[in-house]
Amino acid sequence: MSETIFSKIIDREIPADIIYEDDLCLAFKDVNPQAPTHFLVIPKKPIPKLSDAEQGDKELLGHLLLVAGQVAGEQGLEDFRLNVNNGAGASQTVFHLHVHVLGGRPFSWPPG
Ligand code: 5GP
Repeated sequence: MSETIFSKIIDREIPADIIYEDDLCLAFKDVNPQAPTHFLVIPKKPIPKLSDAEQGDKELLGHLLLVAGQVAGEQGLEDFRLNVNNGAGASQTVFHLHVHVLGGRPFSWPPG
């Protein structure tokens, strides 16, 4: 599996503002924030995109959501938006599964 910039963040080969870490995942601030608070939650397992996840990843996927909510609270967010881009046509640019967590401003629905 090809290495992405997020693998390098996990391995501390490049710096990132890491705000949470456990055995399964990492959360760090997005380098190009789209909201006053914008961080990413990524599994340490290099799953390229959500649609590559398998039955055996069920617990890991649930864990990512729980961590997203927990860290959002720690960052002072009550209302926030989660976003997962799956594939280039959905604006995914880094092919290591990640959950965007955005907050600190209003969000409209439906998204653009
Ligand atoms: P995607 O478009 O794949 O859903 O989102 C990738 C996100 O990763 C983008 O919001 C982008 O700003 C962020 N990103 C890309 N490279 C880096 C990096 O080296 N460090 C950090 N912290 N974020 C990155």
